[in-house]
Amino acid sequence: MEDVCKSLELKQWWWFRANDTLWRKFLTVKYCQRSHPISKKWASSQSQTWKKMMTNKKEAEIHIQWRLHSGNSSSWWDNWLGTSHLASYSLQGGRPGNITVSEFWSSCTWDIQKLNNIAHAHMIPTILQVPIYHILQVPDKAIWKPTTVGYFTCASAWNVVRKKGPTLLTNRTIWHKKIPFKWSFCLWRSLRNKLPANDKVEVFGPPTVNRCVCCITAQAESVHHIFSIGHFAKTV
Ligand SMILES: [Zn+2]
Repeated sequence: MEDVCKSLELKQWWWFRANDTLWRKFLTVKYCQRSHPISKKWASSQSQTWKKMMTNKKEAEIHIQWRLHSGNSSSWWDNWLGTSHLASYSLQGGRPGNITVSEFWSSCTWDIQKLNNIAHAHMIPTILQVPIYHILQVPDKAIWKPTTVGYFTCASAWNVVRKKGPTLLTNRTIWHKKIPFKWSFCLWRSLRNKLPANDKVEVFGPPTVNRCVCCITAQAESVHHIFSIGHFAKTV
């Protein structure tokens, strides 16, 4: 459940970053007038939604890449390299300000001289390999990396955030396509002693008559009794 909530929170960040909506414009004007959303710091005075988004942005940004068209992405904070944003490779504290990627282009190719001012020498070959789809009218496009089509899906987000436990033989046996869901669920509950047998029900209410219906001489009813040691279970 926690993983599902997290994947929906990533969706919220994706909508903020990738789609030109009124909501996005509002948040940008309210919180990011002078700074880029990535560099924006969490502050207690901000709204609950925005604070949540600030907490999730690092996790979400890893999976968002920018395809360069008009080059309007931030050269420093947007992940157009594919691996991470340029700021994460910088050792010094210096920031180039709000400069777009297109400012490092000259006639559809990368301007190495300008790049030298912003990036480390070892980063230049990587930057030169980034393709430029130079279309002035089209803004740079966000790509959600976990899917092959580049669009966000909750399923893909859930797959990247979920915490996978080890595959257990019992789980593999219980949850099988050929077994109807209700019986898988019933078996799962019985193994965890979560079925409403009399011994469980007693905990919640006034004492009831705790007698099973599976034996000739009625005995105390519990999951263990019904499925393992009762008369009917033994016969089966
Ligand atoms: Zn019985």
